[in-house]
Parts: sequence; structure tokens; C-alpha cells
Amino acid sequence: MKKEPVRKVPCCSVCGEPAVIRQRESGRHLCGAHLAADIEGRVAATIASERQVAPGDCIAVALSGGKDSTALLLLLHSLFSSRDDIRLVAVTVDEGIHGYRDETLRSAEELVKRLGVEHVTVSFPDLFGETLDTVLQGREEQACSICGILRKKALVTAAERAGATKLATGHNLDDEAQSVLMNLLRGDLMRLVRNSGADSGGRFIPRIKPLMYIHEKEIAAYLMVQGTWSDLPECPYAVHALRREVRSMLAQIEYAHPGTMLRLMENKKKVETAFAGKPAREPLGSCRQCGDPCSRDLCQFCQLKTTLWG
Ligand code: SF4
Ligand code: ZN
Repeated sequence: MKKEPVRKVPCCSVCGEPAVIRQRESGRHLCGAHLAADIEGRVAATIASERQVAPGDCIAVALSGGKDSTALLLLLHSLFSSRDDIRLVAVTVDEGIHGYRDETLRSAEELVKRLGVEHVTVSFPDLFGETLDTVLQGREEQACSICGILRKKALVTAAERAGATKLATGHNLDDEAQSVLMNLLRGDLMRLVRNSGADSGGRFIPRIKPLMYIHEKEIAAYLMVQGTWSDLPECPYAVHALRREVRSMLAQIEYAHPGTMLRLMENKKKVETAFAGKPAREPLGSCRQCGDPCSRDLCQFCQLKTTLWG
């Protein structure tokens, strides 16, 4: 009988223990403990270099219960739970997506209970009178654009109820690189330099993205190492999203050419730097209907509200 070749488990480049991941850009292999330390260090460095958190902040952590938001809360909790000058509150939006959201909500609730973090939940029926499922009947093709606008409104409402000064979301490097590419594909380059909250004169809660330089697969490995990995279902409407196609295309390019996603982010920075100090958008006014800051007559939410509910 032919003998199977013995596959050698790669060793951690730091300590020599069996590795759980290979970081393709650096070529390093890392064991669970050194992967966790590496990610915690990079998240802390992003928070410091982007000046995302200041003493006295109350950070609303957007927690859907999915992978990225779970990792975000774990990481922010490990960085800030011992600080008296920073408060963490998890905020969750229940859109009302049958067969999907219930499971992630359960996972969110378990996590906040285990960490002892305050939790504010808002739901589409409470805020808008109906679930996303009923809103989308006959409009499934536009699912993510409609959901995106309603979710944003709901998240901000939850963050305001929590008394937050920052709103942290779990967008990772893959999400951010996909957004750069999608803005280019849609011909909306200027959207790259619209940094929500940065120039609002304190009129809305600034968004922060502490995981913006962490790969999706590093987050998955981190959760496995932390023992919090669970295989949750995918949103049933995700099949309609342009992002899905961009995601798989970009993942293939990244595999063949490691560092592509980081280079897209570097280009975003260059565009931001080129436009620094210049008015990247029309002056910020107020929405005619709700008074929220916006650069048009009606904010996106009020436009959508009129289309959906008259
Ligand atoms: Fe909403 Fe689309 Fe995300 Fe589903 S995939 S939760 S519809 S944005
Ligand atoms: Zn409005």
C-alpha cells in the first residue's frame, strides 16, 4: 500500500508552537496565542493612529451577533474594560429577517451577558412599524440599499439612546477594500472621502472602524482561538448584493496577489489626503423633514420613508 506523505504542521514564527494561520502578506505563521496578541496590537494601533477613541468616550459597539461584531466587542472589551474613563455599550438592531436574525440575536445576547456589557436593542417594527421582511416584499432586488439606510437610522437611534459619543462598527479590511472598489465601480469616487462624523461639527455621532486593517479570515481564526466561533446562517437577502460579486472577485485577486486589499486602502488614504481641507461635499445643512444633518433637501432616510410609506 502506498504510504501517505506525513504533512508537517507549520510552526508559529514567534514561538515554534503549531500555527493556526499564515499571514500571506508577511509570510509569517502564527499560533493561536500569537495571532490573538497580533490582532489586539494592530487594533490598538489603528485606534491610536486614527484617533478613534478619547478619554471620556462612551462607545456604542454595533453588535449584530455575527462574526465581525462579535470579534469587535471582544477586542474592545479586552482593550477598554479596565478603563474607568471609557464606557462600552453594545447596540443591536433587529431588522426582522425570518430564519436569520433570531439566531444572531441569541448569540449577541449570550455574549453581552458573558462579558457583563450593557446592551441596547432596537427593532424595525418599533421604529418603523414593520419588519424588513414586509418592507421588502416585491423589492427584494433592492434589499441591501433599503436595509442599509434603515439600519443606519436604527443604529444611530440606539447609539443616541445609549448616550454614546462614538459608534464602532465591525467593518474589516475585506469590507473596506470592497467598498473602495464598489465606489469606483459605481463611479462615486467622492464617497471615499466622506468620512461620516469627521466634519459634522458634532452634529452626529462619529463612526469608528477599529477592525479596518484586519482580514476577514484573521477574524474567523481569532474567534476560533477565543472559543466563540459559531457557524451562523447568512442573511437570505445577501444574494442580491453587488457586494457579493465584488467580495468573491477581490478574494481571488488577494489570494493570487497578497496585499491587494491593503493597497486599495492605501489608495483611499491618498485620495483622502489629496482632498484634506478641501470641501469634499456640499455644505452640511439640515433635512427639511427630520432636521438631521445632510447635504441635500431631504436626508436619505426621509427620501426612502416617502418612497416606502408616502
Ligand atoms: Fe441588510 Fe443586506 Fe446585510 Fe441582509 S445582507 S442584513 S439585507 S444589508
Ligand atoms: Zn431626514
